[in-house]
Order: sequence, then structure tokens, then C-alpha cells
Amino acid sequence: MLSKTLFERMYKSTSIVVLTGAGVSAESGIPTFRGPDGLWKNHKPEELASPSGFAKDSALVWEWYNWRRDVIRKAKPNLAHYALVDMESRIEEFTLITQNVDNLHFEAGSQNVHELHGNIFNVKCTSCGFKADNYAVSNNAPKCPDCGNLLRPDVVWFGEELNPAVLAKAQEASATCELFFIIGTSALVHPAASFPSIAKANGCFLVEINTEDTPLTPQANEVIRGKASEWLPKITILYDKITGKS
Ligand code: NAD
Ligand code: ZN
Repeated sequence: MLSKTLFERMYKSTSIVVLTGAGVSAESGIPTFRGPDGLWKNHKPEELASPSGFAKDSALVWEWYNWRRDVIRKAKPNLAHYALVDMESRIEEFTLITQNVDNLHFEAGSQNVHELHGNIFNVKCTSCGFKADNYAVSNNAPKCPDCGNLLRPDVVWFGEELNPAVLAKAQEASATCELFFIIGTSALVHPAASFPSIAKANGCFLVEINTEDTPLTPQANEVIRGKASEWLPKITILYDKITGKS
């Protein structure tokens, strides 16, 4: 059951931020990092998605990325992604901040999306400034077309800095929103996990949707224990009632 307080908050709030993590795409068949399918060939994602992992064995890292690219290419958005598209169409100021690199929010039709950790289909050169979006890779040692050095996925790895412009946008939206949904993230990766605290410090109402407890659970004003694809459509139906659209 969704509480009356949440319903009232939804009724009053004209600015909403949604932070999503791998849990939102779990039901599209994309493994999360910390779920039961998190390990790949006995390697932890933290070992592979890191500058040190790439320096140690770039071919292994590319093999993993090429496998993930294949999984993601075949995946389709699920009801959680589509419910967020509906929510955006009903809210004056709607900002979607995602830690996912799978492009599924865009594929579903969301518009104001900030990809904190980049996009798995983008690459950049390890040596010169070459970057390319949606770049096809056919082996585990792709070379830069400009300088011939090794390319890498243009995603933010563990221990790397976020794009400052994207970070600033996410922090600003968090500091000024009235309602904040934290969905399907283990809330262990910073600075993403700190955005809800920024929001709460500014009087925002926090709602967490997750199948499990996270370090942010104690801060949430409303905790919804369950799957994003089940609960987000219910929330969208409430918005239909609130805004009178159907
Ligand atoms: P995570 O793997 O650490 O955590 C996933 C969270 O989702 C867990 O808290 C889990 O309880 C919850 N969850 C699982 N199924 C759910 C469901 N159906 N509904 C609601 N919640 C569900 O993922 P994270 O917090 O996003 O952080 C790890 C990093 O993983 C991010 O930096 C991200 O870039 C990367 N990642 C991305 C993808 C993707 O793009 N789809 C997939 C795996 C990892
Ligand atoms: Zn280059």
C-alpha cells in the first residue's frame, strides 16, 4: 500500500528527481553488479570496471564489455522504464539521474535523462582525445582510428571522477526538488548515493523502491519493498488520478 502522505506529496510536488540503478533494468534481463548474477567468470565488477583492472588485462575487460554490450543490445525497456516516461509527461520539472549505462531510459522515451556513468556503447581513446558514441567494437583490443592506440569504454569506472557538468546538474536538481525517488540502487557508489541526502537536507520527501534494504533506507520517508516494474506503474496510475489525464 502506498501511504496517504506519499499521495499528498505527489499531489503538491511540481519538481521531482528520480535516481535509478541497475535494479531498474534487472527485469529487462541485465544482471546487476551486486545481485546473484553479479560475478562474471569469477571476477567481481569492481576488479574489471576499474583503471587498475584495465591496466592489468585490457583484453579481459573488453571481453566482459563486449559480452555486456551483447546482453544490453538484446534487452528491451520494462514497465519501470515506461512508467518513468509517463511520470515525466505529468510533472513540470522532472529530472532522471541514472547510474545505468544501458541506454534503456532513452529507448523507452524519457527525455531529461542524465547518464552519470556514461553509456556502454560509447568509446574513448586511452591516448588522444578521440571519442565516439554508439561505436561498434568487434574484438577485445579495439584501436583508435586517429592514433592507433587502445580504445576503452567511455563509462565511469570505480575510482574515476564523474563528468563535472553532469554532476553539477544532478546536484542542482537534487537540492531544489520536492520529491525524490531512489529506485533499484544499492546506494554504495558515490557521489550518486549522496544526492538523496542533499535533497533531504533541503526538505525534500524521499521515497525508496528496492527489493532490499540499502544504506539509504533509514533516511527514506517512504520505503516501498518490491520490484520497480510492479510499483512504478502503480505510482503512475496515481498520477493519472491527480492530474486527471489518462
Ligand atoms: P547494484 O548492482 O549495486 O544494485 C542493484 C540494486 O537493485 C540492489 O540494491 C538490489 O536490491 C536492487 N534490485 C534488484 N532487482 C530489483 C528490482 N526488480 N526492482 C527494484 N530494485 C531491484 O547497482 P547500482 O546501485 O546501480 O550500482 C552499481 C554500478 O553498476 C553503477 O555504477 C552502474 O553503472 C553499474 N551497472 C549498470 C547496469 C546497467 O546499466 N543496467 C547493470 C549493472 C551495473
Ligand atoms: Zn587515439
